[in-house]
Amino acid sequence: MSYQVSPVGFVRSCFKEKFAIPRQPQLAPAARGVLELVAPFDQGEAVQGLEQVSHVWLLFLFHQALEDKPRLKVRPPRLGGNTSMGVFATRATHRPNGIGQSVVKLDKVEPGRLWISGIDLLDGTPVLDIKPYVPYADSVADATNGIASDAPNLIGVQWLKTALLQAQDHAQRLGEPLVELIDQCLAQDPRPAYQKPGPEREYGAQFWDVDVRWHYPEAGMICVLEVLPAN
Ligand code: SAM
Repeated sequence: MSYQVSPVGFVRSCFKEKFAIPRQPQLAPAARGVLELVAPFDQGEAVQGLEQVSHVWLLFLFHQALEDKPRLKVRPPRLGGNTSMGVFATRATHRPNGIGQSVVKLDKVEPGRLWISGIDLLDGTPVLDIKPYVPYADSVADATNGIASDAPNLIGVQWLKTALLQAQDHAQRLGEPLVELIDQCLAQDPRPAYQKPGPEREYGAQFWDVDVRWHYPEAGMICVLEVLPAN
């Protein structure tokens, strides 16, 4: 038996590639985007009342991780990429129907557009449904999770002075909290846990329309090297 679903909208996100996106929502409050609704949901009626809601659940498609063959076990990056777990015990992107879910902050509501932040979504992500976060039902005070009990540890992020100036210039041009975005995302330490890079190894990722490059001058510390326009 199969069912068909179609997106109610698509996310325009600060994240242009998968690398360096936080592993869950809320970890980078400066991660912003716009959910652009498609017809017939681009009418004001579809979002009427949402202005009374601070956060929404987004159900979306991991459109850049869709696979034909279902996996029963996955190796979540959170566990270092070497330990496998049942797919239903994890929030890994490789899923039977490619469906993800994130609670995001709703900053502004317009007919056809939701301004969202604290996102962990790639640019172009198709959204299947939007539901209001209901604190009394969705926040479970005594919930436990032995696999992912706490938010990941943060690492220190320092900047070359030139890189910080570049980021501040781009932040002004974009009208976005770019310095905070880079700080918050890199503090999550995007590198795969099994890599132990020396200071000569550089990493990079695109945020909005800029390429950010960084390295690890010592274990547990990131230094931002440059923030340049993406090609
Ligand atoms: N909060 C969601 C959940 O639990 O279903 C997503 C968790 S998943 C571990 C988060 C990662 O998904 C991000 O770090 C990013 O690399 C990846 N991602 C985000 N949007 C994606 C998309 N549209 N297609 C494929 N991967 C995506």
